[in-house]
Amino acid sequence: MSSSPLGGRTALVTGGASGIGRACVAALSDAGATVHLADADHAASGEVADAHGAIAHVTDLTDPGSVESLPADVDILVNNAGVQHIAPLTEFPVEEFTRIQRLMVTTPFLLMRRCLPAMYGRGWGRVVNISSVHGVRASPYKSAYVSAKHGLEGLNKVAALEAAPHGVTSNCVAPGYVRTPLVSAQIADQAASRGISTDAVVDEVFLGRTAVKRLIEPEEVAAVVLWLCGSEAAHLTGASIPLDGAWTAS
Ligand code: NAD
Repeated sequence: MSSSPLGGRTALVTGGASGIGRACVAALSDAGATVHLADADHAASGEVADAHGAIAHVTDLTDPGSVESLPADVDILVNNAGVQHIAPLTEFPVEEFTRIQRLMVTTPFLLMRRCLPAMYGRGWGRVVNISSVHGVRASPYKSAYVSAKHGLEGLNKVAALEAAPHGVTSNCVAPGYVRTPLVSAQIADQAASRGISTDAVVDEVFLGRTAVKRLIEPEEVAAVVLWLCGSEAAHLTGASIPLDGAWTAS
């Protein structure tokens, strides 16, 4: 295979300044793509852009107008930006629920709406949505996140149906727990919500339902994203790839 399989391609990765998004920026850039990243974190965006020769767009993706500042003419769209908020449903802050739907469902929709026409025009494109095992399974205290990821899985299927005649695929990657700041930040909240120790959060909550007893590395998720962007994956669309250590097999 060529050392630049994505040479000449342009990609947009949301939430590209950290964790899985950062690993996707690195993988796509290493494969030869010109990569734009969109993220709210100014300092980290600049640092990742410098490290991987990417172009940073600092923006709050909960603002519907933010997508207008992002490039529309891309070949690859990776909808990755996401946040978590842990609270019992009866106490879940309404504003936070709405904000999470905006960031994790409405913004991917707006970006597909914006970026698909250029992909259709070229007869080639790849949309990759970073879903989660929580796109197909539920956990307590994650009403907003589980709702958003289930919504993203539905949006992905509709995109696949509409985009197929234009040579464009849309797929989800659905990881279990990945070693990123988003997961580290949950440990104390989960311990408090469940009344258990922080060690028990890792062993029982994060790894309790997976057969592979370790966190996933961000680079392992990015490797699947990269494969989905290649020519080998042209027939795979409307799918959700479980990267969950057999969590959903049980
Ligand atoms: P992370 O916290 O390491 O990175 C998320 C990035 O998104 C950050 O750079 C952050 O600044 C950016 N972001 C957050 N809110 C934003 C906003 N309003 N506007 C612009 N940028 C914003 O998280 P991660 O673990 O890499 O998660 C990335 C994606 O992967 C999310 O969609 C998450 O739901 C999904 N995911 C993560 C895991 C996991 O275990 N870490 C598992 C399954 C799915």
